[in-house]
Amino acid sequence: MDIKVSRTEKSRLNVVDYDHLGFGKIFSDHMFSLEYSGGRWHDPSITPYGEMCVQPSLSALHYGQAVFEGIKAFYSKDGSVNVFRADKHHDRFNRSCERLCIPKISWEDFWDALYALVRLDHEWVPKKRGCSLYIRPFVFASDPFLGVKVSDTYRFMLITSPVGAYYSGGPVRLLTAPEYVRAFRGGLGCAKTPANYAASLMPAEVARKKGFSQILWLDGLEGKYLEEVGTMNIFAVIDGKLITPSLEGTILDGVTRDSAIKIARDLGVVVEERRLSIDELVSASKEGLLEEVFGTGTAAVITPVEEISHKGVTIKIDGKKERRLSQMLYDEITGIQYGLKQDRFGWIRKV
Ligand code: PMP
Repeated sequence: MDIKVSRTEKSRLNVVDYDHLGFGKIFSDHMFSLEYSGGRWHDPSITPYGEMCVQPSLSALHYGQAVFEGIKAFYSKDGSVNVFRADKHHDRFNRSCERLCIPKISWEDFWDALYALVRLDHEWVPKKRGCSLYIRPFVFASDPFLGVKVSDTYRFMLITSPVGAYYSGGPVRLLTAPEYVRAFRGGLGCAKTPANYAASLMPAEVARKKGFSQILWLDGLEGKYLEEVGTMNIFAVIDGKLITPSLEGTILDGVTRDSAIKIARDLGVVVEERRLSIDELVSASKEGLLEEVFGTGTAAVITPVEEISHKGVTIKIDGKKERRLSQMLYDEITGIQYGLKQDRFGWIRKV
């Protein structure tokens, strides 16, 4: 891909406080764009990050035809930049596009764009452990048109953001919301598309006002089985076994979920991908068999859950125990990401 590059005249890097990054608030110097019209992708460019011009009738703003991804790049101990599982993210990106009737992007174009942008802004990759460069690929329908139909034109973009921890407050408290549903079978649940996040905002606000970090979503049909959490997949350790909801089309096929499963199996842990009911969690907790609960996500990495509240019943997950498995998975995943452990699954691509 022949990318037209116009560099910023003045980098903003020197005003960034790398000790207080937060998440998703600061954006690197440049952004990538690629246009789609006439049945093909064209005009790749890198320009200074900043405002862009769109029409008020932009189709994506009205009808939500859009898809995004979240990928991380890490400063490796050998001084290079490690991008984690970009191919798996690209795969999910295209699956989401398919569900939203958006034309796919080839792996070559996706990687060329990501590589060029991260390389140009490589100095923005934080050097501190626990921090990384968050890469946000996204695509949106760009027809200036009112009316519900598949757009003829699109824009694919990449922006990047140096980030710290997503949940900076440590273990999280979750609330179920039996009166709300995130996704139904046959719906959009497994696509990374803005509509899913829009649907989650109001229940998440209710949870936050009650002092919880996030909603633990239950299945839309019976309100019985665990699905996922805000921006994380959910795992429980019951009697030594690692259990996570199976992929049945309503939850996101998390890249960190897949990494955790592969690492756990590799270390000899029994992993079950199956339906897991909230009643099973309550019983396991009463019998003293519920050892750990944690969420997995690119932003959240491995985040321990210390409490789940469901219809007035509180499940406490003992924070004083060592959280052996979640800690081990955290160490393994971040070890590979920062180049401190051998990349034995071939998950790292260097920039
Ligand atoms: N579920 C949802 C709804 C998410 O937004 C995310 C974050 N992308 C995840 C799960 C975790 O997915 P991943 O590990 O690929 O980041």
